[in-house]
This record gives sequence, structure tokens and C-alpha cells, in this order.
Amino acid sequence: MNDTAPDTIFMKIIRREIPAEIVYEDDETIAFLDSNPATKGHTLVVPKEFSENIFDIDEEPLTAVMRTVKKIAPAVRDAVGAHGLHINSNHGSAAGQVVPHLHIHLIPRHSRDEFNFWPQQHLSTADAAAIATAIREKIG
Ligand code: AMP
Repeated sequence: MNDTAPDTIFMKIIRREIPAEIVYEDDETIAFLDSNPATKGHTLVVPKEFSENIFDIDEEPLTAVMRTVKKIAPAVRDAVGAHGLHINSNHGSAAGQVVPHLHIHLIPRHSRDEFNFWPQQHLSTADAAAIATAIREKIG
């Protein structure tokens, strides 16, 4: 664990300073129930080494996080009798990130349940081409 890392609420969970329903833990990651779940079973996967979000995390801890997501996803789905999962993550306050410590949401979904995720917009062929070109150029 990085001693100079910001003292986020998730660091307090990692250090067992505040309670959480921890469902899985290994050397690099921890998974616990979201305290305000979008649906029953909503679980968060967090790297123990602090990163704020996708823009600063190294590949190794990110890989460890995704390994844990893959490992626990069937259990999170099946424990609540769900049929699928959203695997979602917010990066930056503009994207709805509230806790500044990278985390992946696993949100169980049932067939035909009522849950509005995000609206969809129409994308013209010209706009799609321009946006894709800009992204390709930024990737370099
Ligand atoms: P985000 O908006 O992506 O930053 O999501 C942060 C999530 O952390 C929210 O879904 C909160 O309900 C959840 N959360 C905040 N504090 C805690 C806590 N102490 N234990 C468990 N989940 C928490």
C-alpha cells in the first residue's frame, strides 16, 4: 500500500478503518458491496494501490482489477439470481466519478427489470467519421 496516497473512503475500507461488506480480496484488489446500490448485489472492485482513475493508473494494477472483475462477476450475478451485469466505471467528475479512487461497478441486472442507464443519441455518418478520426489521431 502507498503511504502517500490520498486518504480516500476506499483506502479506509482497505485498512479496515470503516466497515464494508467485503466479498473478495487479494494482494492487489478488494471487492465490497456498494453502500448505496443501484440494484441488489451492486459490488465495487478497487485497486489497493491508489490511483484516481483510468488517466493515472498503471497497466499492472488495472490488469489486476479486471482480473478480479472477471473472477467475481459470475458470483455477483448468481448470488442475487440476476441474468446479467453492468460493468461500469466513471472517470472524472464530469463522468459522474464521486469517489476519487478508481473503481469498477458490477451492477446485477434481471431480465425485464426497470433500470434506465443512459440515453442514446443519433450519430450521423459524418460526425462518426470526424470523431473516429480525432480519436485515432490522439492515439497516435
Ligand atoms: P462513483 O460515482 O463512480 O464515484 O461511485 C462511487 C460509489 O461508491 C457510489 O456508488 C457510492 O454508493 C459508493 N460508496 C461511497 N462510499 C462508500 C462506502 N463507504 N462503502 C461502499 N460504497 C461506497
